[in-house]
Amino acid sequence: MAASKPIILVTNDDGYLSQGLLTLAEAAATLGEVYVVAPQQAMSGMSHAITASRPLRVHRHPMDRVQNFYICNGTPVDCIKLGLHKILPSRPGLILSGINYGSNAAASTHYSGTVAAAREGALHGIPSIAFSSLNTNIADPLAHCIPIVLQIITEVNEKPMAKGSLLNVNIPNLPSDQIKGIRICRLTQGYWKETFDTRKDPSGRDYNWLEGRFINEEPSSPETDETALYEGFVAVVPLKTDSTDYESIETMKNYAFNN
Ligand code: MN
Repeated sequence: MAASKPIILVTNDDGYLSQGLLTLAEAAATLGEVYVVAPQQAMSGMSHAITASRPLRVHRHPMDRVQNFYICNGTPVDCIKLGLHKILPSRPGLILSGINYGSNAAASTHYSGTVAAAREGALHGIPSIAFSSLNTNIADPLAHCIPIVLQIITEVNEKPMAKGSLLNVNIPNLPSDQIKGIRICRLTQGYWKETFDTRKDPSGRDYNWLEGRFINEEPSSPETDETALYEGFVAVVPLKTDSTDYESIETMKNYAFNN
């Protein structure tokens, strides 16, 4: 057993004022020395964006509930990079992202800043977990998620995941006594059917607001994250940073341009 507590880096994409972030940081503080580096503004949907063309600033922010609390004017991935290279005293043993308000299951993993922060951790070879709740009420501190969060972290600490992998966890919007358990799943195949609601601003100019709903292309598959959530289970999907399509490498070997 390690002599000192592991360092845990925590971020999110809903911004530093999020209750879900504080809940995750406080849960993690029971297991290690927590450093929060969180975006100054809401960064949902920023995926793996980094700040490369404007000044990136980070400063310590007084926060009663978390001692080492920093705010950054960049994206969730910027927060991870700043944490690793500028703020933390040494390499963390764990990176956590969330708890996000709203699902990050299925195709949403591609858009999510919450998931991207964990992916950035995995790209650095650090065990990383993204947590999202299907509860979208930002006034709810998501305290009922704490036992689930701790159970998953503890198991990952004891049985480490493969290097380059991350975990994407989605928690159903149900009271604790109605959550049926935790299920390892795969991502659901599907897509967002999107529309733009075009409105007028006060000057009479048009602006657009993205709307959409997720189309589940395999609603009867038992092993997907959407099915697990629908049935009242916490959905845990291991994701890989290596998104190479190895099957297509095989089928494309006979392409004329291939040497
Ligand atoms: Mn978010």
